[in-house]
Amino acid sequence: MNKFEASSSSHFMQPFSLVIHGGAGTILKSDMTPELEKAYSQGLEMALNAGYSILENGGTAIDAIVTAIKVLEDNVLFNAGKGSVFTKKGVQEMDAAIMSGKDLAAGSIAGVRNVRNPIELAYEVMANSNHVFLSGKGANDFAIKQGLKLEPDEYFFSAFRYDQWKEIRDSDNYSLDHTHQDLAELMKDKKFGTVGAVACDQHGNIAAATSTGGMTNKKYGRIGDSPIIGAGTYANNKTCAISCTGHGEPFIRACAAHDVSAIMEYKGLSLEEAMKEVVHHKLISIDGIGGMIGVDAQGHTAMVFNSSGMYRAMKTSNGEKCIGIYKDELSCF
Ligand code: ASP
Repeated sequence: MNKFEASSSSHFMQPFSLVIHGGAGTILKSDMTPELEKAYSQGLEMALNAGYSILENGGTAIDAIVTAIKVLEDNVLFNAGKGSVFTKKGVQEMDAAIMSGKDLAAGSIAGVRNVRNPIELAYEVMANSNHVFLSGKGANDFAIKQGLKLEPDEYFFSAFRYDQWKEIRDSDNYSLDHTHQDLAELMKDKKFGTVGAVACDQHGNIAAATSTGGMTNKKYGRIGDSPIIGAGTYANNKTCAISCTGHGEPFIRACAAHDVSAIMEYKGLSLEEAMKEVVHHKLISIDGIGGMIGVDAQGHTAMVFNSSGMYRAMKTSNGEKCIGIYKDELSCF
């Protein structure tokens, strides 16, 4: 694809694109009902359209990804905002991050409760604080100071996630140091449902964001890869914008999102080649199950995962629009 298309007025028309995910894991058609499949696809499409219309109207990559993620956070089907998974203590503690590829500005929050849209809080940290990463009560206090919308515990409750948690809350099987066997079991139960978005706007700026309830039955204030800049979320106009999903610990150890950027910068690989290197080789070598979405500053997109499924969708100014759930099955319109 050409980097830019020149118009007669010497105004450059830059390709733009949006990619979103709703989590990766063992997502099998055999475990799904047609109704649920439809609900997930509709949820993805709503978020995709909301974010894309911002880009289409000349808005920024940052605005597009915040808009898309808020739609997913408000949808109980996804493990972010409303519908977040339960911790060992039976509450929701959410993590989120956002990064701007133009100036490497970033904002992250971890272990936050009762904030309706955690991605807005991450944005506030980036745009209106002198910090990058806030956690726990301090992050909640900052949400109040910035006037963000709070919700009672009941708002975040979902029967589906509660039942998942009830099955395992009395065991340690799903704690962080679970064995490979336990991980397979965990994924069988589809505990990954983090949401993410990456965009390239008409100005050639790219951005990445991720929001999650983390992993079911997590304890000791566990924080996953999602809010860690360079692990689950990273953006740099020179290379790529990446949002990850999957078993967070290996993604942290692999510095997964930044590794894609480094491979592109230092080895000259394309976005998709670099993502495949990290997802299919580096992460696999340390049992890192999951995937990631990416864009570069020329508007190229990629969605790569090593699990059996990843809720995902993309739309570009070249007229491509695709939505998928399972491996080897992508519907393009
Ligand atoms: N990566 C997230 C975490 O480990 C989980 C997910 O992607 O669903 O917290």
